Amino acid sequence: MTDRPIAVVTGASSGIGAATARALAGAGFHVVLGARRVDRLEEIAKEIDGTALRLDVTDKESAAAFVEAVPECRLLVNNAGGAKGLEPVAEADEDDWRWMFEANVIGTLRLTQGLLPKLRASGDGHIITVTSIAALAPYDNGAGYTGAKHAQAMLHRTLRGELLGQPIRLTEICPGMVETEFSLVRFEGDQEKADDVYRGLTPLTAEDVADVIAFAATRPSHVNLDQITLMPRAQASASRAYREG
Ligand code: NAP
Repeated sequence: MTDRPIAVVTGASSGIGAATARALAGAGFHVVLGARRVDRLEEIAKEIDGTALRLDVTDKESAAAFVEAVPECRLLVNNAGGAKGLEPVAEADEDDWRWMFEANVIGTLRLTQGLLPKLRASGDGHIITVTSIAALAPYDNGAGYTGAKHAQAMLHRTLRGELLGQPIRLTEICPGMVETEFSLVRFEGDQEKADDVYRGLTPLTAEDVADVIAFAATRPSHVNLDQITLMPRAQASASRAYREG
């Protein structure tokens, strides 16, 4: 496939994942891009001389076939996922919760388990997981997403201890508000509701987060950046932001 070190980015068809694929290619990696929208992956792969592979992290067979097709792996970026719905627990939709746990938690489990032998064999592996500030504290109407992100974070943080002594670093990235397709997915395509999330402030861009991921990935092998939280200047927590106007 390549003589460059291989980085796998899940959810690379849009937002943070697409920007991360570009940033890692710029840092010298051959990037394997995974997601369901293969047409988008192929466009980015062509631009950065990477490899596009179909991946549905909620489907066991799809995840297994993807892992099988990756020849070697130095870096895994667990990024695929997102939120669905924003309701109080009393009105929460069970299917939304199921999707959030399947995509964010079980998806991360599948890819991590599948690629661990290759990360270990690389002699200098690195797992970067994009959780969220939703993995740090609860917020009203967000229990399905905060619950899934806390569980994903626990999977990732537990590995830090379990893999001690092995040549694998672990970095958790906890972004606040980033303007991507995230809110459009959360509100089932309702553009007005999605735009309202970022109203009156300057949110992070996908490139801002990708920069930080590429920074973590390019530190010397003995340096482990454990957890990085980044938010827009105008945001203090998941439930507190300053908006103009
Ligand atoms: P996005 O633009 O909606 O990107 C989500 C990515 O995940 C897409 O590439 C999507 O690709 C992929 N994905 C979704 N379901 C998948 C599945 N079943 N199998 C494979 N890929 C799947 O949103 P984003 O903001 O970049 O989100 C990336 C990560 O950052 C998510 O884990 C999200 O929870 C986290 N995050 C986002 C924010 C924010 O404010 N935007 C803040 C903190 C954390 P396909 O649809 O093509 O499969």
